[in-house]
Amino acid sequence: MTVRSPHPPSAPAAAPDDAPEDAGGGPRWVTDPASPHPAAQTPMMRQYLDAKLQHPEAIVLFRMGDFYETFFQDAIDAAHLLELTLTSRNKADDAPIPMAGVPHHAAAAYIRRLLEAGRKVAVCEQVEDPREAKGLVRREVVRVVTPGLVLDDDVLESRSNNYLAALWRDAAHPEAGVGLAWVDASTGEVRGTQAPDLARALDELTRIDPAEVLVDRGDAAAVQAVRAALERAVLSATAAPTGEDDAVSSAAAMVTEYVAEMQKGGALPLRPLERQPLDGVMRLGPATVRNLELVRSLADGRRQGSLLALLDQTRTAMGGRLLKQWLLFPLLDVEAIRARHDAVAALVDDPRARALVREALAGVYDLERLVTRAVAGTAGPRDLMALAGSLERIPDLAATLAATGAPALTALAAALDPVPEASAAVRRALVDDPPATLKEGGVIREGCHPELDELLSIARDGKSWFNDYAARLREDSGIASLKIRYNNVFGYFIEVTKANLHHVPPTWLRKQTLANAERYYTPELKEREDKVLGADERRVALEQELFEAVRAEVAAHGARIQAAAGAIARLDALAGLAELAHRRGYVRPQIEDSLALRVEGGRHPVIESLLPAGEFVPNDVSFDASEAGAEGPRLVVITGPNMAGKSTVMRQVALIVVMAQMGSFVPADHAVVGLVDQVFTRVGASDDLARGRSTFMVEMTETASILTEATSRSLVVVDEIGRGTSTYDGVSIAWAVAEHLHDVTGARTLFATHYHELTELAATRPRVANMTIAVKEWKEDIIFLRRLVAGGANRSYGIQVARLAGLPTPVVARATEILANLEAVTLDRDSRPRLARGQRRTASSIWQLNLFANSPAPAEAPPAGPPDALTERLRAVDPDRLTPRAALDLVYELRALLARQEAS
Ligand code: ADP
Ligand code: MG
Repeated sequence: MTVRSPHPPSAPAAAPDDAPEDAGGGPRWVTDPASPHPAAQTPMMRQYLDAKLQHPEAIVLFRMGDFYETFFQDAIDAAHLLELTLTSRNKADDAPIPMAGVPHHAAAAYIRRLLEAGRKVAVCEQVEDPREAKGLVRREVVRVVTPGLVLDDDVLESRSNNYLAALWRDAAHPEAGVGLAWVDASTGEVRGTQAPDLARALDELTRIDPAEVLVDRGDAAAVQAVRAALERAVLSATAAPTGEDDAVSSAAAMVTEYVAEMQKGGALPLRPLERQPLDGVMRLGPATVRNLELVRSLADGRRQGSLLALLDQTRTAMGGRLLKQWLLFPLLDVEAIRARHDAVAALVDDPRARALVREALAGVYDLERLVTRAVAGTAGPRDLMALAGSLERIPDLAATLAATGAPALTALAAALDPVPEASAAVRRALVDDPPATLKEGGVIREGCHPELDELLSIARDGKSWFNDYAARLREDSGIASLKIRYNNVFGYFIEVTKANLHHVPPTWLRKQTLANAERYYTPELKEREDKVLGADERRVALEQELFEAVRAEVAAHGARIQAAAGAIARLDALAGLAELAHRRGYVRPQIEDSLALRVEGGRHPVIESLLPAGEFVPNDVSFDASEAGAEGPRLVVITGPNMAGKSTVMRQVALIVVMAQMGSFVPADHAVVGLVDQVFTRVGASDDLARGRSTFMVEMTETASILTEATSRSLVVVDEIGRGTSTYDGVSIAWAVAEHLHDVTGARTLFATHYHELTELAATRPRVANMTIAVKEWKEDIIFLRRLVAGGANRSYGIQVARLAGLPTPVVARATEILANLEAVTLDRDSRPRLARGQRRTASSIWQLNLFANSPAPAEAPPAGPPDALTERLRAVDPDRLTPRAALDLVYELRALLARQEAS
């Protein structure tokens, strides 16, 4: 059952047979093929309803001659989704059936649109030749195409896997973990992993980004959770698997059973389940993948503008898909990461080898998908040619790699198996430039099968044989006017005019008598006729047979070809990273098993690529400044005005870590990366607008998960926290979160905030460093220098930024005035950090609550002495409940009290 799709599923409603056709509701479903409802009465409609009842969740495309027709609610849906004209059947009847059809030759494009709309499509074909059918042609659903089970190249994205995933847990023992499995039917890849709980499983599912997710329909909570968490996927509820050992194999069983069911026995070659333990790869939660724009831009959700779009310099679809996997699943193993860096380095250092490799790769087609089609028996003639041509590139590739002498590359060369048996089989049998389909023949080359050669020569020599034979007969019989002719009814015959009948030899057999001529045939002519007429049909059938044999031969080497395809994908991904490093001047990062993180001259790869060369200002960030082992900062507070570049510099550090651990070189002059187990990002409300659903609650939920799940090996990026609430709330939460990250979590943390008060944290905590993005004040404006320097911003520059943004001058002036008032009122004599104070406060110390500690010197000294009106008033304040506006009012009130006090 499809429980989630843009349109309500077109499953038959349990409508009574006599359901009225009311104006608004449209025609109702007939659910029972045996129903007395007129709609079910024709044999063909019964056949249709049989198919529909087998696949209530899918739109059934019912083959009728040259069209696929849809009926009932399907027709209404299809007409809407595909912009078809809605007609009806049984018009004369009082129960017309809505109907909409598409021409069969254009079906692929329509199916694609239905899939894009999140629908499933059951293709119901005529399964016997209409010419041979007695009565109604037999029809059957031959396959069901669902968004997760697309094999059509026109629908598939070449540089992304198209996954069908399953999530399974034992509802009776949820603590036993959640199994995930995902399969790309177009490549045969099957992977699985186990998550500790549902929340983590959903995070991983989001990262896998399947087109369709299967959930046990008995597990309502899981169905609900998946539906809420996965925006892009279609959700299908299926039966629970039975008899599997663990959650992962249960999930894997769900996908494989579903594949078998939807393919109707047309087997898809799935590879063995490959388990991918969660702790073997860097954790990147959905928020981080999104905020860092790893595979999609925040602006419009497209690949364009993402890190992937920049990184992907691969030349093959396989390489592109693998690179995307590398990016989303960075490694945690120092040796494995270094192995990738070694290969990239070797290809960076050898421009000639790199160029040769990339040139050869450009001629390699999507072997993974081609070989899958060969094994599935759906590959056409051009698929096999593409496959052979691609395999034939491999020896050159291997030779180029071996010639470099670089160990990282010679190892790769060893894995490049050209599977010569497969390409030879194709070359031996297929013509050089075969047609796309087998329908017309012309696929198999001459000389590889004697019968086919004869059939080919018959077709080619047909005409001349009859001419030669006629000439021979003329000579033998002496009938000079004799002709051999052909018509559709009588086939080939010898035609003799009445005047010449006495020359006809007795061996000729009479076929037909005309007014002034007689028609004959001979056994020889008849034999030839049978041959010629049958030859075409036979030739196509034989070519089909021979082609299938070649395809089977290729399929027999399927596993080897898949392995070679995997090696090519790796090589392509590595060569692409090398090309990128070369073009953009990236360096090899030093990977260590430590808690260090030092980036010198770091750049944001995507923003840098959008700016004219040299305009991006590089920056240094270091979490372990000391070589001598002294402890460097673990929490860096970054302050600076809006638009200074805080978000950029933090993201660039995170991106450099992700790139380093996926095996890439990085945009920096020098980088040391101590393995990062997880990257967390929290992006404040106003920066998260692209999602359109950012609320203070979401912000806090995400913060909570960072605080509970980050480890000392993690990298935490907090970009503005606490903006979604009042100033007092916000600064308090920001402060406490920063303290916790520093004291308890110990993660390497970049903490950008517009609360410049947080710079005081450094005075109370040993491993906090303040950094700020330098700005230059010029007259009343500021100039962004984009340079990250030690120290804290002593003000927020909000008013200057507002001026830059074009706020009317009187408003800017008034804001300046108010700011001066605020700063004057709340100042205190000494400048020790006060926000960090604990709870024990004396009445007079409340005075010291100071939001703006780094502002210029106090204008007035606070009064001493016993509690007075001012103190009483302050004591009554609950800062957590103050809106900024109320706080401002309060300030005026306090000023007034103060003035009164001073006057008295
Ligand atoms: P903030 O987070 O401090 O408000 P952003 O990081 O969003 O500022 O940066 C604002 C803009 O400034 C960016 O979109 C980018 O165009 C530019 N920018 C930021 N950092 C740099 C840099 N190092 N070099 C050049 N331009 C930069
Ligand atoms: Mg920002």
